Parts: sequence; C-alpha cells; structure tokens
Amino acid sequence: SQRVVIIGAGIVGTNLADELVSRGWNDITVVEQGPLHMPGGSTSHAPGLVFQTSPSKTMTHLARYTVEKLLSIEKDGHKCFNQVGGLEVATTPARLEDLKRKHGYASSWGIDARLISAEECFKMYPHLNNEMVLGGLHIPTDGLALAARATQLLIERTSKAGVRYLGHTPVTGIERDGRRVTGVSTPSGTIPADIVVSCAGFWGVELGAMVGVDIPLLPLAHQYAKTTAVPALAGRDINSLPNGLNATLPILRHQDKRLYYREHGGQYGIGYYGHRPMPVVASSLGLTPKDVDEQNMPSRLEFTTEDFDPAWKETQKLLPALQDTEIEDGFNGIFSFTPDGGPLLGQPSHLDGFYVAEAVWVTHSAGVARALAQILTTGRSEIDVSECELSRFEEVQVNRDYVTETGKQNFVEIYDIIHPLQQRASPRNLRVSPFNARQRELGAVFFETGGWERPWWYEANKDLVKSLPPSWKPVDRDAWSTQLHSPISAAEAWKTRNAVAMFDMTAFHRFEVSGPGAVGLLQRLTTSDITTKPGTVTYTLLLTDHGNIRGDIFVLRLEDDVFQIGANTATDLAYLTREARVQEQKTPGQWIQVRDITGSTCCIGLWGPRARDVIAGISTIDVSNKGLPYFSLKKAILAGIPVTMIRKSYVGELGWEIQTSAENGQRLWDTIYQAGKQHGLIAAGRSAFNSMHLEKGYRTYGADMTTEHNPFEAGVSYAVDATKKDDFVGKAAFQRLSSQVPSRRLRALTVDDGRSMILGKEPVFYNGKAAGYVTTAAFGYTIGKPIAYAWLPGGVGEGETVEIEYFGTRIKATVQAESLYDPQMNRLNQ
Ligand code: FAD
Repeated sequence: SQRVVIIGAGIVGTNLADELVSRGWNDITVVEQGPLHMPGGSTSHAPGLVFQTSPSKTMTHLARYTVEKLLSIEKDGHKCFNQVGGLEVATTPARLEDLKRKHGYASSWGIDARLISAEECFKMYPHLNNEMVLGGLHIPTDGLALAARATQLLIERTSKAGVRYLGHTPVTGIERDGRRVTGVSTPSGTIPADIVVSCAGFWGVELGAMVGVDIPLLPLAHQYAKTTAVPALAGRDINSLPNGLNATLPILRHQDKRLYYREHGGQYGIGYYGHRPMPVVASSLGLTPKDVDEQNMPSRLEFTTEDFDPAWKETQKLLPALQDTEIEDGFNGIFSFTPDGGPLLGQPSHLDGFYVAEAVWVTHSAGVARALAQILTTGRSEIDVSECELSRFEEVQVNRDYVTETGKQNFVEIYDIIHPLQQRASPRNLRVSPFNARQRELGAVFFETGGWERPWWYEANKDLVKSLPPSWKPVDRDAWSTQLHSPISAAEAWKTRNAVAMFDMTAFHRFEVSGPGAVGLLQRLTTSDITTKPGTVTYTLLLTDHGNIRGDIFVLRLEDDVFQIGANTATDLAYLTREARVQEQKTPGQWIQVRDITGSTCCIGLWGPRARDVIAGISTIDVSNKGLPYFSLKKAILAGIPVTMIRKSYVGELGWEIQTSAENGQRLWDTIYQAGKQHGLIAAGRSAFNSMHLEKGYRTYGADMTTEHNPFEAGVSYAVDATKKDDFVGKAAFQRLSSQVPSRRLRALTVDDGRSMILGKEPVFYNGKAAGYVTTAAFGYTIGKPIAYAWLPGGVGEGETVEIEYFGTRIKATVQAESLYDPQMNRLNQ
C-alpha cells in the first residue's frame, strides 16, 4: 500500500486512519502538534450533538454513517455514542411549517422522524416551557457523540493495527517534487509519504498555504456554556446510567433563537449561534502548548459574557427549570465555516498526492473519513461527495475576502429558515456577462451562482402576462413556492415556445481542450466516439470506473485537435486538468492544454420557432436545417461579429447557442435584439429556461443524477456508445450493467391536480410507503402542470400514481413517459 501521512489527530484524522487501516493499508503515520491524549483542536471540546437530517442527502448520509460507526466503538462497556434522540422545537408558526419540510427531508433520505405535538414535546422533554412550544420534530436515532473518547479509542485500536502516531509534532512544511508531494517536514525530520492528507481542522488554511493551495475555510469562534447544577436534574442518579454516559434527555434545538442544548450529568450545556461572528486566524494562536487541558487549549478562547446575555435570557424562557441556575463556565470555541457551509474533501487539481478533509463537523466525521478512504483505495466514494469537493469553488470564491464574508454569513444564518432559491445580498456582481448593462435596462432580476449574475426573469416582460392565452395563465401558488418566483416566467416560456427568446448562457462552463493529446484524452474519458469530423457536437457522459456517472458534458469538435467542452462545474475542470496531466506524463509529446474560457467568451441561446427568421437576415452562413443541422456547429459572421453558431438547445426549440469573445458581447446582444424585434423576440430568464428544460426531460447533473447512479437508472444510457472501439473509463462496468434490470429509476412525474407546487427533495410515497425522492421540479408551462423528476423503485411503471409530500401534505402525481414535450424531437430537427 501507499505511504500515508495524516496531519491532525482530531475526530477526522483518527477516523481516516481507521478507515484506511481497515481496508488493508498499512503504512500510515498520524502527525499531531498537540499531545495525543488531548490534541487541543475542536474535537477536544466538542459537545458532540449529532442532528443527522439536513436538506442535503449527502450530508445526511455522511451523518448516518457516523452514528452507525460511533455506536460500534466501545471499550470496557464504555460507548462513544449516546443515542438519546434529537428534538427540534418550534416556537413560531414559520418554524412549525419548516419542521414539516425537514420531516420531508428525513423521509427522503431514509431517516426515521416524527412530527410531534406540543404536548408530546413536553412529555418527552418536561423542562420545556409548555406555553412557548408549538410542536417539534423528533428523530430517535440522533444523539450525542463522545468525540474525544471516540478519538482516543480510535487511536488505541489503529495503533494496535500498526498506525504510527506522533504527538507533539507540528508539521512545518510539505515537501514536493514538482507536482507531487513527497512528505512532510517536522522539527524532528522529514516523514516521506506518497499521500499527505490534511485533517488539520481550522488550521487547514495554514496547511494549504504550505503547498500553495487556497483553502476556503474561515475559523470562527462559537459560544458554548455550562450551567451550575440544575435542581430539576438533581433527583436523577446520572452515575447509574449505563456505559459512562451522562445524558438521558434528547439533544434539543431552539432554532428560532439560534440555541441548542444537551445535558452534562446534572448540568446543562448551551450552544449559541446568535452572537456576532468572531473570525480567528489560526496562525495567530501560536504553537500548541506542551500541556493541554480542558481549560487551556488552542481551540478554546475566553468566554465573552456580554455576547451570551441574550442566549441566557432566551434559555431561561424556554427552559424555566434553568432559572435557578447560573452560567458556571463558558468558552468561545473555534471551528470552521466555508462559503457554502459544506465540508472540504478531495485534492487540488495542480498537485498530486495532497488531499484535505477539513471543515468537517463531528456529525459527519466518520462519513467523510470513509468517503475519503474509499476514494483513496478504490477511486470512488459510495456516497456522492460532489458537494463536498474541494475543487467545487470557482476562482473568485477562494480568496480570503470572499471566504470571510460568506463564512460569517453562514454562521449567522446557520439556524435560519432558508428558501431553496434564497439569494445572498453580498458579495454580488463578482462576475457579470457582457450583456449585463442591457439586462439591467430590461429590469432583469438576477440570481447568483458561482459568482455569476444570471437573469432569472425580466420585469420588462411583465405586460406579456396579461396577454397569455387561458391555458398558459399561471396558477395560484402557495406562499412558500411564491417566494422568489414571478409569473413573468410563464410569459417568457410562452414566447420561447411560440416566437423566439434570447437567453444568457455565459455562466455555463466552457473549457478548451487542445493539443496533440486532446483526442486521446477525450476518447478515454467520454462515453462517445468523439473522433467525428470538426463541426460536430456530441452529448456524452463521464463515468467512474464503476460505471456510474461523474458528469455529463457537450464535446464540440472545433478543429482536429481543438475541442470545446460544455461542462457543469469547476470540478469537471479539475478532473480534465488532472487527467490531462496524467496522460501527458505517460505519453510525453502528446501534450494537452485545458483552458477555462468561460469568462473570456460569452454566449446567447437563441431559441424558438422564429429563431431562424431572426438570424437569416444577419448571418453570412446557411442556417437552414441542411446547412447547419442539429448537433453541428459553424463559425460565422453576424453583422460583422465573429461568432460560433452551435446548433443545440436546452429548451427543446429550434435555435443556436451563439458564442463570441467577451469584448464582442454587447454588440452581439444589440444586434440580435434589434434583428429579433420584428419577430417578437424577448430576453428570457433562467426560471423559464428551467421549466422548459424539465419539460424536455434533460437531466441536471448534481441534482437529477450523481456518482451514485448509473446511466441505465438515470435514463441517459443513450449517451453511451457501447460499440466504441476505444476503451474508455467505465466501459467494462457499463457493459456489465447493461445486462441488469435497474432496481431504481429516475422518472418524470406530473402533478394530477395541475397546480400543487413542489420545489425539489420532497419524499415520494408509493403504496403508502416512502419509496423515493424528488430531484428537480418546476411548473411546466407548456404542459400546464407541475413536473417533478424523482428517483423511484425500478418496478414503478408509467401511468402509476404516487404521492409527493410537501410540507406534510400528500400530493398525487402520475409517472409519465418521457419527454413530456415534443418526444419526437420535431421542433429541434426542422
Ligand atoms: P480538530 O479536532 O481541530 O483536529 C485537527 C487537529 O490537527 C488538531 O488536533 C490540531 O492540533 C492538528 N493540527 C493542526 N495543524 C497541525 C500541524 N501543522 N501539524 C500537526 N498537527 C496539526 N460539531 C458537531 O458535529 N456537533 C456539535 O455539537 C458541535 N459543537 C461544537 C461546539 C463548539 C463550541 C465548537 C467550537 C465546535 C463544535 N462542533 C460540533 C464542530 C466540531 O467540533 C468540529 O467540526 C470537529 O471537531 C472538527 O474535527 P477535526 O478533526 O476536523 O478538527
């Protein structure tokens, strides 16, 4: 096996050592700057509440595995997980509603949960003020992780299995040879390694800097306090609890006031997120002292009582039993926040052998460690971890200003009720397309992704809503799905289907792959034969070795050895860059250049039955169906502007993506806008786009399908050319899978009543039992019904009825044949 150095003996590093050693890797060294019995990082003081359920399937499953694993670790009858259950209470009507949504997530992700009445909350948790609580969500499998104990037991068991632990040993540098790490330096010498994994918690930024990697995490202090002995708990003999555990009540969340609670024997522990964000620079904390104890450790800063005052007042209201107590002890403990709240897992694209597993809560620790161990030993994690990928961030998202502002914001909002489309107010306008000024003139309402400002709809189209034919009139929506929505989207979809509309496609990732090795690279990584003639567009998949989907991309062959890739994420760029380097190392001379050209170019999607009328008058080339057929491309001049016309469509209508370099963008916009006026052209936004995209049955990578799914299950096996002569990643696995009947499938559903909205991630019930979950959803304006895509058991057939649970209400829906719009592709091939 490979020589591995893990930096950090917190809950993540020790779990990783355990997951690797249990998979047969036997040359593992864990290097820890603090004393091993109490390293002094966040784990050493973690109160260890584990609430498993979140809107993210990935995070929930990482948490579920952590619970399973911690339950299995035990010594001399002493356990590492106290499964007291989790109770979240609502004290406002909005929170009560939100708990229903959360209950839905639990059902979607397979976590047993129950919505309970105020009386039941009070029965389960007698210290609650029964005049305040409106209801709760109870999750019996949640509980308390004894993280420091688990860490010690993991050190003990992995040491026995041969893992070396070096305490009091700070890593001061990471050694490398070119683009490969070769070891770590410490005051007592170099430790050679093939793989270095930084599990350094909130010191991650400093470790990253040693190899020139920006680690987008922000250490923040967070308040935790313990009360004096609680008289109401005094009668209980906590010491008689089995297994050295010191709590019997469920862990408790009072999110309306940003508070959480647990018992510590006869005392209460109180955690608070309502205070001002308090950023910390880890390097300013100095070296870990030789002696660390409960009170003195680098991750524990002095308690700032004044910040805690509101928490204490609110606590005494919610838990009157604490009115006879005081705060005995408190601290401001440090842990990590990231721009999107997710952990950081994986490797940077420019370096081999360096991995990180940071910004990980105790809640997800064993899950993250297992995922990374699986990636290292087999190349793939069984839980999709795309949303944890270190490489998921765009360049503008990893600088300190961005990380600080968004990290602080995530701290503040951690317990807020967040709408799935909620937009941050700042930082904004980081990346704007060259059409931005014109879009503003048209009253664009912008939503942000990856730093890009993307028009969601245009207020300029408001009057069109009045002129919509009756079958297109928007239906009334419930208050939640009305938020961040405008009926203008219906009008924009109507115009696209019946006249023509222009969409800003600039924010879609575009990479150029060129050089003598380009054909070989794309032939090896994609599922299609891309040795087609220049001018061809191919929709293809990137698979894992196991035959699952790691991405779907468009490959545009521009010249013999110049390709453009239309991709989904920055992670696709990291994958292509890394694979190009690996290939080049194997076949020197066959160099490949992978360049992100997204920001230096721009793109307009011009779609609708009258798109050809708009272009015919201003184009130098034949744009007839014969001159430029579907899935082909040509260079052209449009009113003097050099462009590439790409005959493809995300919305299922005739038209092109028209691409040019950024400096020509505004002129291109103006030219098309002017030429289109007489044909009824409008500018349309992403909301209408999403609806039409779903009507057409096009999948969204990351939401509809992930590395957990294979092409047969996801309904995209048509994009795999099993007869392709050349071998490609995942080919053998795909061939094996082709003889199996999928046990689950991504299916199109329409809502029977034609009006009840769904937003995504809701559970789906079949014969009364939770059987799957919604991936993406939208109102299908053309078909006049809400649409949901959902993962369902393979046996559920077309025409069958299922129920989708939305805020506790069951909505009937029917499984449909695909696509819902123009299945014969007549609109595209005219
Ligand atoms: P750490 O435990 O910090 O371990 C990193 C280790 O790396 C440290 O021991 C450090 O000494 C070592 N290290 C760093 N740099 C070097 C170097 N150069 N050389 C050698 N070693 C190095 N999470 C929950 O899930 N539930 C909770 O209820 C919860 N409550 C919390 C309450 C508070 C007050 C705080 C502060 C955090 C809480 N967390 C909670 C978060 C949780 O504690 C952390 O996310 C988790 O412990 C991080 O584990 P880790 O192993 O990544 O990091």
